[in-house]
Amino acid sequence: MRTLAKTKREPGIWMAEAPKPPVGPNDVLIKIRKTAICGTDMHIFNWDCRNCRAGRRHLCRNTVGVGVNRPGAFADYLVIPAVNAFPIPDDIPDEIAAILDPFGNAAHTALSFDLVGEDVLITGAGPIGIMAAAICRHVGARHVVITDVNDYRLELAKKMGAHRTVNIAREKLADIMPSLNMVEGFDVGLEMSGVPAAFRDMLDVMNHGGKIAMLGIPPGDTAIDWTKVIFKGLTIKGIYGREMFETWYKMIAMIQGGLDLTPMITHRFDVKDYLEGFRTMGSGKSGKVVLSWS
Ligand code: NAD
Repeated sequence: MRTLAKTKREPGIWMAEAPKPPVGPNDVLIKIRKTAICGTDMHIFNWDCRNCRAGRRHLCRNTVGVGVNRPGAFADYLVIPAVNAFPIPDDIPDEIAAILDPFGNAAHTALSFDLVGEDVLITGAGPIGIMAAAICRHVGARHVVITDVNDYRLELAKKMGAHRTVNIAREKLADIMPSLNMVEGFDVGLEMSGVPAAFRDMLDVMNHGGKIAMLGIPPGDTAIDWTKVIFKGLTIKGIYGREMFETWYKMIAMIQGGLDLTPMITHRFDVKDYLEGFRTMGSGKSGKVVLSWS
């Protein structure tokens, strides 16, 4: 079968032939039709890998990442433990199924706190931040404000439901809050950039008693002004991966309830053009990039 594999210790990824994976008694064999390129794939491609995702079980200390520590879905066939499988209903298109992994990160983060009627700030309009904006809008937040330094992505965030986009290179959050009749601060913050400056911006504009869910992975030695956390009485929750299987149920229910993820997929390639797919994903001018295997 065809497989996209990291076969050399240098930037890149290569199409190779591999035997169909053996199927153990507790495994399922899945025929792959569509796969999407995610941030971890980009790290693997660029040879700056860090295992930034895994799926109580989602907090396992001995996680083995499918596609990172064992063969993954960039192949004609994938074998995973049957207990990991979540059958996707037939009314969900394959290409949407292909982006449920990052959508799961968005759902886990965004649904950490009650959003109904709340003012939400999302820092980072990467694919996960944008999908989080769509979720916040879908479940009834009052204002969903999202920041980035990339206008292409902010435009996509708007299309997906953000009320207000802020290019932080040109505008300050404190300056746009009055136009939204916001006098106190944001109730909920979703940090989805991994950039220390973005987290610091968030701490500045959080309301007292606000809640922050952190998905973005900042450098380990990131310094913040802790007095803002203490005197504002903020709650900060770290997010890793998804919650198995609660996130899967919620995702499917939101899609079936009308949350349309289709605009997130901005590029589609046959897998033979995978290099173009990775280039597009790395350009910053894309939403999700889907590779077709059939
Ligand atoms: P991404 O890198 O595509 O998106 C991050 C965005 O932040 C980019 O669009 C970038 O332009 C923007 N940004 C840069 N500087 C900014 C600033 N000062 N203010 C606001 N935005 C700024 O990443 P993604 O795939 O959407 O993932 C989001 C983050 O979540 C990444 O840090 C990723 O490593 C992390 N992640 C964590 C987990 C987990 O389990 N905790 C899982 C997946 C991804």
